[in-house]
Amino acid sequence: MSSSSSPRGKKVIVVGAGLGGLSAAVSLHAEGFDVELVEKNERIGGKLNFKEIDGFGFDLGPSIFTLPQFFESLWERAGKKMEDYVQLEPVTPHWRNFFEDGLVLDLYEEMDQMQKELEKLQGDPEKHWKQFQQFLAYGRDQYELVDEGYFAEGLDTLWEMLRYYKLRLITKMDHSNSMSGAIEKHFDDPYLRMIFEYFIKYVGSSAKDAPGYMNLMSLIQFDYGLWYVKGGMYNLARGLDKLLADLGVKVRLDSEVEKINQSGKTVTGVTLKSGETLPADYVVCNMEVIPAYKKLLSEPPKFMKKLEKYKPACSGLVIHLGTDKIYDQLAHHNFFYSKNQNKHFDSVFQQGKLPEDPTIYLVAPTRTDPSKAPEGHDNIKILPHIPPIDPENPHTHEEYMALKERVIDKLERMGLTDLRKHTVVEDVLTPVDIEQMYNSNQGSIYGVVSDWKLNQAFKAPKQSSKYKNLFFTGGSVNPGGGMPMAILCGQKVSDRVVKQEAKMA
Ligand SMILES: Cc1cc2nc3c(=O)[nH]c(=O)nc-3n(C[C@H](O)[C@H](O)[C@H](O)COP(=O)(O)OP(=O)(O)OC[C@H]3O[C@@H](n4cnc5c(N)ncnc54)[C@H](O)[C@@H]3O)c2cc1C
Repeated sequence: MSSSSSPRGKKVIVVGAGLGGLSAAVSLHAEGFDVELVEKNERIGGKLNFKEIDGFGFDLGPSIFTLPQFFESLWERAGKKMEDYVQLEPVTPHWRNFFEDGLVLDLYEEMDQMQKELEKLQGDPEKHWKQFQQFLAYGRDQYELVDEGYFAEGLDTLWEMLRYYKLRLITKMDHSNSMSGAIEKHFDDPYLRMIFEYFIKYVGSSAKDAPGYMNLMSLIQFDYGLWYVKGGMYNLARGLDKLLADLGVKVRLDSEVEKINQSGKTVTGVTLKSGETLPADYVVCNMEVIPAYKKLLSEPPKFMKKLEKYKPACSGLVIHLGTDKIYDQLAHHNFFYSKNQNKHFDSVFQQGKLPEDPTIYLVAPTRTDPSKAPEGHDNIKILPHIPPIDPENPHTHEEYMALKERVIDKLERMGLTDLRKHTVVEDVLTPVDIEQMYNSNQGSIYGVVSDWKLNQAFKAPKQSSKYKNLFFTGGSVNPGGGMPMAILCGQKVSDRVVKQEAKMA
């Protein structure tokens, strides 16, 4: 088909307005395609979502913003400036870490403050500081390597990586250690080991199973900052919405795609639940790869088997509380550690069990943005990572609620006294809700798990192996989950479509 309303005369349907879909839509429009974005929900953003209850403004999805450069480059592609659409504020301290024995340790971007924090640990402070510096230097090397190829070139497979990095893939990129293994080699201190292991949160995997180079995640935070989107995280989606409107990209909300139409080895467009058919030259799918092949393309079991290595990352029990008391000891981002983090990783990622004593992430956004709760009240979001839904043996709602009680018990024990008593608003999302809301694979919150043995930490490729004009974007596709990765993915998908277009010309 051809489209007269764009410089290239070609139509692209983007299925899903999560960050990967939004980024692909903007980038493809900038490349001269006629783009139409089709989203099943009533608003754009996907997992970047919000809910207002009785004066509390809850960010239902992401709360930590990193790597602003990957967002800025999207606006640059569109010939605009991000700061005209979205404003960022630095968050300090980055993280506050609480341990069961009472130790509280903050992470600061400011190195003098960070050095001071390390004095709280037992042992020689100079040694801790030196080990921290060496760890950052190691993370920086890994980041620079991953950034120049895997990120910047949008590499998708081991073969593409080998072609780009050549010997450096083996000699420089750390996959001989696991993420935990590399941390153990750098730090003697058990608290620092647990903190740096938990940076794996950003991709919802296990530090035991992810390769060493994933330690670039802590470096990213120290070198490029940790940010809050002014006015609430959803203002990022609002900024993207305005960008799409300024560019004139068509967006259809409340429109679920039921089928991607195919003819031999090409796709021809999509059919909506309403029955309407939208023809297209290219389809870019932001619905996750496995559910999309299964539900929208009805691929046979033999084909689906090849995708099994793209196992979902963790899910989460997302607990939003409004309290009639302010918990002064909390920073904006807080972590309450498991007594045995190995056991936590093992329960969630190996045994598929709800953890007995999870490491808990807790956000209290009013530290940066007082508008998120009525005066004198606190807005608290609690997120333990838990296994994705096992369709053969799903956890019951009662089991999820029992975990919620264990989590609140732990927080009360660790200093949030009478949290239950002071709760005036409560809203909980289970993996079942997350799967239904976003069509995510088994309720995954970060797309595909990063597991060296299973998939060498690769996510699915951006171009379909079966249909040459079908592409994927978002957390289930390289470079993977987390907001900056999804935003980068959409830009790199656009580059792939342009390449494919050149091939077909
Ligand atoms: C609780 C939680 C906390 C998180 N915390 C952080 C964090 O602090 N920092 C961070 O960087 N990241 C975080 N993440 C991860 C981050 O939100 C995601 O990785 C990212 O937003 C995913 O973007 P995506 O492109 O994969 O699209 P998704 O957000 O998965 O969106 C996909 C979109 O496609 C739509 N769709 C699906 N199927 C269809 C269909 N058939 N027809 C039409 N539309 C369809 C869905 O409705 C949805 O809008 C968090 C996620 C969650 C849930």
